[in-house]
Amino acid sequence: MLIRLVYTSRSTEMLSPAALEAILGSSRKNNPPNGITGVLCTNGSVFLQMLEGGRREVNETYNRIIKDPRHHDIQLLHFTEVTERKFASWSMGKVSFDRVNMAILLKHSSRAVLDPYSVSGAVSVALLEDLMATANIGS
Ligand code: FAD
Repeated sequence: MLIRLVYTSRSTEMLSPAALEAILGSSRKNNPPNGITGVLCTNGSVFLQMLEGGRREVNETYNRIIKDPRHHDIQLLHFTEVTERKFASWSMGKVSFDRVNMAILLKHSSRAVLDPYSVSGAVSVALLEDLMATANIGS
């Protein structure tokens, strides 16, 4: 059974490129053996992450992530059974926010800022899909 989980959180400190790489390094090490794929979007202060995979594996990964002191104010936005993955190609794709077209943010919210706390989970999923469609995601 496949599950899709989306959450948002705030970085404990302004995220440096090295700190982001450390997080992505753990993801790329741990996610493939667990069959987890997904995408991590951040502007340096807010994270928006989608995890896809088996229900047990997604739950175990999420339970590990929420204990991580590198972020806080974690809110689960979306959790659903799915029949197929949206991000099957990425052990953890990274959205390079400096390359994000602000029009994509404006399409989904009242201001051109990443603020998943103020929109529905469905809107955050749609935002991630648009970022993927416009090739703003790298591995
Ligand atoms: P390692 O990756 O080997 O790390 C060793 C230990 O050091 C871990 O306990 C880790 O938490 C800790 N650590 C490393 N760097 C720091 C640091 N700078 N500050 C504080 N502690 C640090 N993990 C995944 O497996 N998959 C994911 O998709 C994933 N996404 C994440 C998204 C976010 C926004 C964050 C903040 C973390 C994410 N992580 C993810 C990391 C996760 O929280 C765990 O740290 C990681 O899974 C632990 O893996 P490990 O036991 O193999 O330890």
